[in-house]
Amino acid sequence: MRLNPALQSFACSACEHVASALALTAPVGLCPRCHKPLAARYALRQDALVPRHERAGLARWESVLPIVELPAGYADDVGATPVAPWPRLAPELGLDLWVKHEGGNPTGSFKDRGLAVGVALGVVLGARRFCLPTQGNAGVAASLFSARLGLPPCHVVMPLAWRGSPYHRACALFGADVRFAGANVAEAGRAMREALDRPLAAGEVVDLSTFFEPGRLEGKKTMGFEIAADFGRAQPDWIVYPTGGGTGLVGIWKAYEELAAAGLSPGTPPRLVAVQSERCAPVVEAFRRGLAVVEPVTSRGTAADGLDVPAAIMGHGILAALRASRGTAVAVSEEAIAAAFRRSGAAGVPTSFEGAATLAAVETLRRDGTIPAGSRVLLLFTAGFATHVSRVEV
Ligand SMILES: [Zn+2]
Repeated sequence: MRLNPALQSFACSACEHVASALALTAPVGLCPRCHKPLAARYALRQDALVPRHERAGLARWESVLPIVELPAGYADDVGATPVAPWPRLAPELGLDLWVKHEGGNPTGSFKDRGLAVGVALGVVLGARRFCLPTQGNAGVAASLFSARLGLPPCHVVMPLAWRGSPYHRACALFGADVRFAGANVAEAGRAMREALDRPLAAGEVVDLSTFFEPGRLEGKKTMGFEIAADFGRAQPDWIVYPTGGGTGLVGIWKAYEELAAAGLSPGTPPRLVAVQSERCAPVVEAFRRGLAVVEPVTSRGTAADGLDVPAAIMGHGILAALRASRGTAVAVSEEAIAAAFRRSGAAGVPTSFEGAATLAAVETLRRDGTIPAGSRVLLLFTAGFATHVSRVEV
């Protein structure tokens, strides 16, 4: 593995700071000036944006990722997920309805894309070990990719109540060093950073928290390239995305921007919809109020673990992507999420609670007329059903 020669720099998403890729001597974290996320910038020729079908999984998109020459077997089974039409529900909703199914990734969720690249980038820049606080699939993915490179165990910190959860068990299965602290992921993160203060400062350990390093965004970006390639000249009018930290939403938009910058725009890009739970909806709140940044809220708890993110460090990037795409943000109730989970299953399409939230959102946006009849709509089903079906009463 080595840095992509087309990678030019990591630029701050909020201030003018730019770090040249040539000058990197240690893993990249947050902006040293303003502590906001950095994002990779490339000099991409048009041929770099064409998938390399002779490679498998994420390696198809190596030329637009920060690292190239991913080892065989590392991420061959990551990404390249299918988009499928949903003819059973399409007429009921009056839509040309499609789903992108991320449950086929090796740990069962879209988190594999970001963590595969985050871990690989950190290793290329000198890290040997990774850590992150988690309340869901991100910790599982980080543990898996640490194991695939034979690294020391990933240091995963979960809220106290997560002991014995499916996420805990999966991290342990992939060899992670799992710890527990605090009542929520923010408190778990604080405890983790205190415990690892010195190795984090020395760059020996990389904090893989959402947007704390630029690799996860690049990995998630591959969803956008896949959607753009799969739909070709008939892009979705809308992409409906369950939004916690928002890496995927920002990443999908970054893909469409990179395509446009290289003169390869596949027509009008899709309008993005950020979906959150009514019980934790900081992005929806900020969008409605016309703010430029997302102000933290106090979560009242949601069954959709991935949406239980009360403070989004890249909130400014999420709001910018929603507005640039002429999109919107919508909050759905816990009852609507549960009902959509069942409706989706009954119609033969398994999903997670987060995926179900996108179906609930589309029901709302059809009722209020935001999405007109006949629109081509793509739902992002970010994980499989296995984790959440155990919480459904039968
Ligand atoms: Zn900055």
